[in-house]
Amino acid sequence: MIPNNFDDMSLEQNKLLLLHELTHVKRHDPVAVFLYRLCCSIFWFNPLYKQLESGFTNAMELNCDADVLKQVLNKKFDYARALLASLKIYQTPLNMHGLTLFSDPKHDKSIFEVRIREAMASDNKNRYDIIQKLVLLTAFILLGVFSFIAKATLNVSQLTNNVKGLKPIKEAWISSNFDEVNEYRGPKPHQGIDFASKMGIKITASFSGRVLIANSTSLHKNYGKVILIQNADNNMQSLYAHLDSFNVTAGQIINQGDVIGTVGNTGRVTGPHLHIELIKNNKRVNPNNYLDL
Ligand SMILES: [Zn+2]
Repeated sequence: MIPNNFDDMSLEQNKLLLLHELTHVKRHDPVAVFLYRLCCSIFWFNPLYKQLESGFTNAMELNCDADVLKQVLNKKFDYARALLASLKIYQTPLNMHGLTLFSDPKHDKSIFEVRIREAMASDNKNRYDIIQKLVLLTAFILLGVFSFIAKATLNVSQLTNNVKGLKPIKEAWISSNFDEVNEYRGPKPHQGIDFASKMGIKITASFSGRVLIANSTSLHKNYGKVILIQNADNNMQSLYAHLDSFNVTAGQIINQGDVIGTVGNTGRVTGPHLHIELIKNNKRVNPNNYLDL
């Protein structure tokens, strides 16, 4: 007969399952589970812990089974039957009562199959002795240390990818912001930021990179004398327009903060100012998000 719940199990099987739970306690498995969950929450950013969880609990169940069988010699068949019976209970969703057990009902039946097979094996010696426990512990500690190192490195690399651009003119105020619409420009929103300044004021590179263009002929004539730079630290190009003079030539590698030219009034302007644009994948992006203004 197939048992539906604990009441349908034989007294012997119930005793064996109880012994299994008691053995967990004796083995200090609850402490191990607590420590493991603690590790999971401390190192939440390392998905490896979560992935190893079922391996960890399965190994614990197998060890516990082996310990139980050491205590009750010649009861292999009863124990295997008890496991089979509890597997049936786990798979009956309505009969969840009495499952204060360690074993997670969510576990698939494959671990039960392994456990039943192991219980029936001729020798039930515990495969995970103290040395293996120590190795496992050391591995977990190392994993934790590596997670921290990895997280720190990740942060550093994120920082280098998000280097804030410098303000191209130290003392200048923004006369027109990104996306602004004004009569002079027509219906098209502003593609960059304008810094009001005086003729001849030095312009410094917001980002390091390679100069692609430094002339007044390659781009639209409205830009006047213009510098286009392929940024080194991000996937963007920076464009500086309406210059009076150039301090760089095409092909030159420049560092962040290097003087690249001076403020002018070339191209379509109403007065001297610097117009800067940031271009990402051929689209103008808001410089406010990338410059430290
Ligand atoms: Zn502008």
